[in-house]
Amino acid sequence: MCVAAHVPISQAMLNNRLTVGGFVALGGLTGILVGFVCAVIYRRTKGFESQLLRAIRKDTLRIVYQPIVDLENEEIVEVEALARWTNEDNVPVSPDDFIKVAEERGFVGQITKLVVRHVLHDFAKTLRERPGFRVNVNIAAADLADPEFLPMLESALAQAGVAASSLGIEITESYTARQQVAKETILRLREKGHYVHIDDFGTGYSSLAYLHDLSVDAIKIDKAFTKAIGTDAVTVTILPQILTMADTLGLRVIVEGIETPQQARYFAQSEQSIYAQGWLFGRPVPPDAFLRLLEGKARIGEYEESIEGMGMVASSVSAA
Ligand code: C2E
Ligand code: MG
Ligand code: MG
Repeated sequence: MCVAAHVPISQAMLNNRLTVGGFVALGGLTGILVGFVCAVIYRRTKGFESQLLRAIRKDTLRIVYQPIVDLENEEIVEVEALARWTNEDNVPVSPDDFIKVAEERGFVGQITKLVVRHVLHDFAKTLRERPGFRVNVNIAAADLADPEFLPMLESALAQAGVAASSLGIEITESYTARQQVAKETILRLREKGHYVHIDDFGTGYSSLAYLHDLSVDAIKIDKAFTKAIGTDAVTVTILPQILTMADTLGLRVIVEGIETPQQARYFAQSEQSIYAQGWLFGRPVPPDAFLRLLEGKARIGEYEESIEGMGMVASSVSAA
């Protein structure tokens, strides 16, 4: 803290000892406070990051699976793999938070690799037996730019004896528009046979030209649109245009965040074939529970991951 005055210091000290003393004390206290806050933020952020890195190293992240159904017959056609982390204080941390930190600190690729390994461990046999079924993994911008990413996928799939078409890729919309390298990697993923989805569609750079330019297989309409159904929010008026646009471009549509029968009916009325994902059709569950669901040995809703939507504690840490 700096105090500027137009008075010679000797005079100031003589006439205003109390005021100057007060300012010095205030400056000192503010400095201590700012230092303390910085130290707390630094320690928590570092602690968060090193805990996460330890969890990756010790392989203690869990992967849960949420079904994606065909709205026409409610049969499971795909599944999304979602990462879960409970920190060393036993607090579940939202993936929105830990993925962001991993991205900012440059190690999200380690999480992608871990998820791919788990998916193939959990589902290789199922994927070999059901060629029409697909598991989707979320990838990050850094993966698209990483020259090791495609070879990593290829060797993991070859080792597991699983076809590339059985592993779908979800890429958040805002990642993809940014760089030429993203477009090239998407092209190469598709050439290899992966099914590429644009995730959270409608929240980023959506435009017809952009989608055409990208050349993907499917869009996942963000849950913000689903939430707006039955309200007069302006987002609802855009939905039919998105569906028409996807139809024209020959893109598969998956709707996220279906929680109510009313929302499901809205999309089921469409003449297009639409896939849906949401709590109405099943929350994310561990692999064995998902397999029972897929094999028809359990009903949707029988297994509900307790932390989903109920008591998931978002981290208070945001990366500095
Ligand atoms: P996302 O890829 O869009 O995943 C869908 C999110 O919506 C999941 O949140 C899922 O639990 C939630 N969800 C599903 N159905 C409903 C519903 O009916 N209502 C509501 N309100 N939510 C629903 P989750 O698991 O918390 O993941 C958040 C985001 O974190 C994901 O969004 C994805 O962007 C990211 N993420 C999760 N796992 C991974 C991962 O392994 N790698 C990467 N790069 N990102 C991941
Ligand atoms: Mg996703
Ligand atoms: Mg999404």
